[in-house]
Amino acid sequence: MGDGMKEYEIKRVYMGKIPYGEDLLGFLNALVLEKGIELAIIKILGGLKKITLGYYNQEKKEFVKIEDNAGVEIVSCYGNVTRKDGKPHVHLHLIASKSDGTCIGGHVLEGCEVFAVEFFLFELFGDLVERKYDELTGLYLWDV
Ligand code: ZN
Repeated sequence: MGDGMKEYEIKRVYMGKIPYGEDLLGFLNALVLEKGIELAIIKILGGLKKITLGYYNQEKKEFVKIEDNAGVEIVSCYGNVTRKDGKPHVHLHLIASKSDGTCIGGHVLEGCEVFAVEFFLFELFGDLVERKYDELTGLYLWDV
């Protein structure tokens, strides 16, 4: 299309739990690799024992780590699967609430330990999307 947008159909929907103690991102990256899922939408709810999030410093073009070892509720977690370096790549963001109800959020990094997590993964059918390095932002963005 060339206008930054594409059209897809939903191919399959997976629904599942992520086991206690698993790494949230590690589990999903292993799942998409195992199932050969290269394009998908991910929605997640649940609780985490600890979180490791990233905040992208736009000036320095690098991620700053945000870590918290107290349990949190995942208020919202949304992501996608596209291809990066020729293999499926999970990109997730989440908002989590703490014991006082305040929230923190960011880009999900390895180091989010699952307490109890439910997920839906909507695999899409259509042209695959590859991430390419973008000089302007310093990020690997969709090549659409
Ligand atoms: Zn991100």
